[in-house]
Amino acid sequence: MKAIVFDEHGEIDKLRYTDVPEPVLGARDVMIKVRAAAANYTDIWARRGMPGVSIIMPHISGSDAAGEVVDIGSGVEGVSVGDEVMIHPGIGCQQCQYCANGEEFFCRNFKIWGFQTGPLDGGHAEYAKIPVSNVVYKPSNISWEEAASLPLILETVWRMLVVRARIRPGDTVLVWGAGGGLGTMAVQVCKLFNARAIAVASSDAKLSKASEMGAEFTINRSEQDVAQEVRRITERRGVDIVFEHVGQSTWPDSVRSLRYGGTVVVCGATTGFEANTDLRFLWNKQLNLLGSHMGSKADLMDALSFVERGLISPVVSEILPLKEVPKGQTLMEEDEAVGKIVYVP
Ligand SMILES: [Zn+2]
Repeated sequence: MKAIVFDEHGEIDKLRYTDVPEPVLGARDVMIKVRAAAANYTDIWARRGMPGVSIIMPHISGSDAAGEVVDIGSGVEGVSVGDEVMIHPGIGCQQCQYCANGEEFFCRNFKIWGFQTGPLDGGHAEYAKIPVSNVVYKPSNISWEEAASLPLILETVWRMLVVRARIRPGDTVLVWGAGGGLGTMAVQVCKLFNARAIAVASSDAKLSKASEMGAEFTINRSEQDVAQEVRRITERRGVDIVFEHVGQSTWPDSVRSLRYGGTVVVCGATTGFEANTDLRFLWNKQLNLLGSHMGSKADLMDALSFVERGLISPVVSEILPLKEVPKGQTLMEEDEAVGKIVYVP
């Protein structure tokens, strides 16, 4: 089968579009003919190499995919050949207490599919295998490309805002990167909960997308002072929740923008991990700093029920042929994408 493969860490030129053997199914696996697979920042981290994470070579990236089941392992029940599915990318052992509690991201054997799996075990290929417990049915009202764009960002955003930060009607939520994949989902979840999103992005094109998705206020961070705008919009009160995934470059403004008793929830740090917090503000303002990592299968299924009802919409910015993964990664590295980039084998 065709796939995008790399054998060592490095720049875009390490990616090869080539033939590799099809995956071999275990008893509890299903094989999917990939109809579409999405781009994520984890693809870039895997290619570049990341301290503390061992990437198994040769590597196929791709943690989001949607497709048809074309084969099932001998021990698989409840999923049949021909089913239209998407993949929940968090793989746990399904035996431990955390997995039993639906907290597979705490499992000692937790792996992100297409990032920590391998060799040659990810979505940027014509076929992919996945444990049957990671299969979720595709809502019939969305396309393959839309389905592929959703799982990782949707479950991540759902967990951050709904499960961790406990978003409530009337909350004001500062959403960084509001034109990107995570941000466009976050704005929609705010709207779903009758919360008021303040969208921050670097261009007017991204901000107009965020407004279309339901953002009530917008801040262009290349022209405006974010903390100052937040003070103006909230009449000096500050926001209830900050949706943070940018990290080092935005963290000081995130903390500064919170109301007394407010919450920052963070799922990543694309600009760097070394962020400073003045602890006097932490205790005086009784702030909550919350971490969040991906989501559970149940988080994904909860969120998908709103996709099925048309209350959360996928946002696909670009559909590229699979062999153009290098172009997709370049677009992401240059911060050019509005919504998700999707590859089609
Ligand atoms: Zn486990």
